[in-house]
Amino acid sequence: MNNHLSDRIKNMSTSATLAMAAKARELRNEGKDIIGLSLGEPDFNIPDFIKDAAKQAIDENYSSYTPVDGYAELKTAISNKFKRDNNLEYGLKQIVVSTGAKQSLFNVAMVVLNPGDEVILPAPYWVSYSDIVKLAEGVPVEVTTEIDTDFKMTPEQLEAAITPKTRMIWFSSPCNPSGSVYSKEELEGLAEVLKKYPNIYVVSDEIYEHINFSGGHVSIAGIDGMYERTVTINGVSKAFAMTGWRIGYIGAPEWIAKGCIKLQGQVTSGANAIAQRAVIAALDAPVSKIQYMIDKFNERRDLVLQLLGEIDGFNLNVPEGAFYVFPDISSFFGKTLNGNLINNASDFSLYLLEHANVATVTGEAFGNPNCIRISYAASEKELKEAITRIKAVL
Ligand code: PMP
Ligand code: GLU
Repeated sequence: MNNHLSDRIKNMSTSATLAMAAKARELRNEGKDIIGLSLGEPDFNIPDFIKDAAKQAIDENYSSYTPVDGYAELKTAISNKFKRDNNLEYGLKQIVVSTGAKQSLFNVAMVVLNPGDEVILPAPYWVSYSDIVKLAEGVPVEVTTEIDTDFKMTPEQLEAAITPKTRMIWFSSPCNPSGSVYSKEELEGLAEVLKKYPNIYVVSDEIYEHINFSGGHVSIAGIDGMYERTVTINGVSKAFAMTGWRIGYIGAPEWIAKGCIKLQGQVTSGANAIAQRAVIAALDAPVSKIQYMIDKFNERRDLVLQLLGEIDGFNLNVPEGAFYVFPDISSFFGKTLNGNLINNASDFSLYLLEHANVATVTGEAFGNPNCIRISYAASEKELKEAITRIKAVL
């Protein structure tokens, strides 16, 4: 049948994380016993105090359109959170609440980029960055980082990637998919390079800030000279296990925030009213209220590293945050496993799905063709079973 899909959509990739999750769901519906380690989604329930706030919001009739940029009370809670957790001063005019951090990222791309502007993405990067940049007619420029340096971009690599067309750098710390965490010194090194290029802006995606086992989280906006040039992205999907509630937000220079409000006003209006009220309770609470989830992720990381470390051919580093491991499995390339020739990470990930009934995501989607991403946001029982199965089919 004829279709007239726009080139924009034809040229876009489907989100590999969501596609793998959908495939796992489909196989499960067919009766297969699939263990899903593909989606970056906490397996915890939302803490009760947040649910209570949502129920109260329904009873209090928070049912109308909200201000496009979010309720003032929520923006105040976000401003206080930035001050408390990140030592960053963002006034209410610098904060925009959106339908997930994904929309926040999209807004920023649309607001800052002109066609042809280059965006440096240290690879591996989160799966949606490159397609969001392309949708805004920007050009993603990948900077390949290696497992031996914990997948972090060095100042030298950054400087080498800058051209007169560079407009932005996007990165996440803790990083999805590598779990790497940039230290203050490492961020200062990058900031030192950027001092020479005043027209380059930074998107610092800090959605995993609390899921950090290395100690302190550092926001690049707090480093000398960076505040005016940084958009700090955050949201409640990960730390508060609120993926389906769809609330993300930015702290940004006022002109960027204003642009995002203008765009959002024509696209989605304000984010969901009930979810916004619930997020006030989430952000006002001390981090100690969610520490039990962070501790569990830390235990699971150790378990997964230990069990995967027992499989020949997995090259692993120690991720310091988020809830992913990103092993290099290129030693399997060129081998035939149970009659399946493994040429690349996608073949490997598919092989695990079909033969071990374990869903992972190919590193190709994150800009690294030698690795796969395994999410350990799953129960200990599932993780043990999944890795036993993986070991058996390899
Ligand atoms: N950034 C990163 C690094 C992520 O892993 C995710 C995962 N969902 C997002 C942004 C988007 O989060 P949200 O659910 O708030 O849209
Ligand atoms: N961010 C999560 C992941 O990387 C959720 C899926 C998505 O939003 O793409 O798996």
